[in-house]
Amino acid sequence: MALAPMTIYEELVTANRILARYGVVDAYGHVSVRDPDNPERFILSRSRSAGQVEIKDLMRFNMDGQALDGDDRSAYLERFIHAAVYAARPDANSVIHAHTEAVLPFSITEAPLAAVIRSASDIGTHVPRWDIRGHFGDRTNLLVSNMERAESLAATLGTNSMALMRGHGFVSCGWTLERTVATAVNIARNARVQYAALQLGGPIVMMSQGEIEACAESRGTTPSEEQLAANRRGWDLWTQEVHGSRGERSHE
Ligand SMILES: [Zn+2]
Repeated sequence: MALAPMTIYEELVTANRILARYGVVDAYGHVSVRDPDNPERFILSRSRSAGQVEIKDLMRFNMDGQALDGDDRSAYLERFIHAAVYAARPDANSVIHAHTEAVLPFSITEAPLAAVIRSASDIGTHVPRWDIRGHFGDRTNLLVSNMERAESLAATLGTNSMALMRGHGFVSCGWTLERTVATAVNIARNARVQYAALQLGGPIVMMSQGEIEACAESRGTTPSEEQLAANRRGWDLWTQEVHGSRGERSHE
């Protein structure tokens, strides 16, 4: 018998667990989704490590990063990142902020991070780098802990799907939760591959703009049934890995 589709809350719990399992986030870092019932709101866990997030931990926030529903539980200090990206990017329905170690070298050097493997094509030919010091001076703690800093970061993100944060991590966003999670997993992979290639020396062949656009078309908003099945394959496997089976998720 087919299981009922996951609710957005169940999908967000799953997304948290996948990102933790694949090392995109550790004790810190978070993923959110825009509220399908109200585009001016988003759903994000209370201040808890992604690998431990359960449905009861999820909270709703407005575009100023303020908790709704009278929920006064401790929220992530950097929830403002999500608010600012959703406000600036109506096309974004999911946002991830992470401190993934494989990505960090690219945040503190001039080595450009760009798509070199097709599974990370969404990051494009150029990933912008945001340095909080350049905007807010050399006395910050590097955290994006208010709307002013978050809006500055979102401005650097622009129309890209990812921005590096100097000495801190990255922010990424995407059209759907599934795709944003898949890209984040592959951002770490892309960074590792690119770093390894740099050790081999010589020029690196990046993906071209044409290749990136072709990948985007095949994974676009109206994919074919075949493409949809291919897109879901990773998500279905990862869901099984983090839940044992989909049926067990309701016991969390
Ligand atoms: Zn952070």
